[in-house]
Amino acid sequence: MSLLDPSPLMNIAHRPDRVMVRGRGSYLWDHTGRRYLDFVQGWAVNSLGHCPVEIVQALEEQARTLITPSPAFHNEPQLALARRLVDLSGLSKIFFTNSGAEANEGAIKIARKWGRRHKGGAHEIVTTEGAFHGRTLATMAASGKPGWDKLFPPKMPGFARVPYGDAGAIERAVHEGTAAIMVEPIQGEAGVRTPPDGYLAELRRIADERNVLLIFDEVQTGIARTGALFAHQAEGALPDVLTLGKGLGGGVPIAAVVANERASVLEPGEQGGTFNGNPLVTRVALAVLSRVSTPTFLEEARQASNHLMKRLEPIARRHGSGPRGRGLLVAMDLEDAIAGRVRDRCFERGLLINAPRDSTLRLMPSLCVSHAEIDEMAEILGRVLSDAG
Ligand SMILES: *Cc1c(COP(=O)(O)O)cnc(C)c1O
Repeated sequence: MSLLDPSPLMNIAHRPDRVMVRGRGSYLWDHTGRRYLDFVQGWAVNSLGHCPVEIVQALEEQARTLITPSPAFHNEPQLALARRLVDLSGLSKIFFTNSGAEANEGAIKIARKWGRRHKGGAHEIVTTEGAFHGRTLATMAASGKPGWDKLFPPKMPGFARVPYGDAGAIERAVHEGTAAIMVEPIQGEAGVRTPPDGYLAELRRIADERNVLLIFDEVQTGIARTGALFAHQAEGALPDVLTLGKGLGGGVPIAAVVANERASVLEPGEQGGTFNGNPLVTRVALAVLSRVSTPTFLEEARQASNHLMKRLEPIARRHGSGPRGRGLLVAMDLEDAIAGRVRDRCFERGLLINAPRDSTLRLMPSLCVSHAEIDEMAEILGRVLSDAG
């Protein structure tokens, strides 16, 4: 197969001169038949790797049964998935969306509605520097990505921003007009920045004392990515609103907003979407959840994480610092701003890794990655870094 012409596509991303045609587990193949060991997995999306049998089966069976009855009707997989996620999260109500950004838009709507109904019109949301909440106008305003404030003016108002990992700064930013605090339990796109121990629990205390909602964006950290089903479980700090995406669908587009009773303020007509909660994607998410929510699965993912950290330690010591992160969301810093070049060299040698910052490499393999695949990754990365240094 030859490379197809990419010129009709709007030029919104630098992509290599390859077309990806097939995937299986931790491997991806391009149009020339080259194989890549995938430690990006569609940005932490393919929780069970490429084309896992559970997802293929769920899609096949559901496609033969019912694809979309219309969002105006109930469907079985959506009802089952809602029950499952509410039980697993300890929260009480849910609505489904097609992307993480849309889920966060929903969380922002909830905060504004809640502030109007229960707090005299309070609507400001306290967010953090370096945050990534999505690419819609509101979620861009909620994000703290360098340079983003100047894109697409006017910027959506109603967001305050403080340094990440500093609970005191959040407490000082909360005032009468504050409706919610919105954070990622670990900042993924910022390069896997982990807050100090106790941060999430402190935010829970502040939210209770100052009467604001606490929103955790777990679009990247949720669904076993960090070794627990949800990253906030490490501190036992339950949010009022939890957003999920990426790994939830194991590769198909589905995301969710989960809320407790207190935050479930939306009424008919205030939220919705044509494809939301359709049986095809909710059936897949059910299949993903049945696999990842078992103690054995989580234990194996934690063992894979230990092995990954162990293999990355000597590489990080020699070429920079780290590794850091939790579970299978891991990064290391390099001494120089060569992360993009290292990523490209790895690509040439058949390894996919991500460079979220100039001197930061990020790894987010399948949650079922094998120890042998981790060894193979470490060998290629170690060699590329030695050649680059
Ligand atoms: C990827 C991501 C989003 C946006 O999700 P999309 O599905 O790309 O809209 C939001 N928040 C976090 C933390 C993310 O990592």
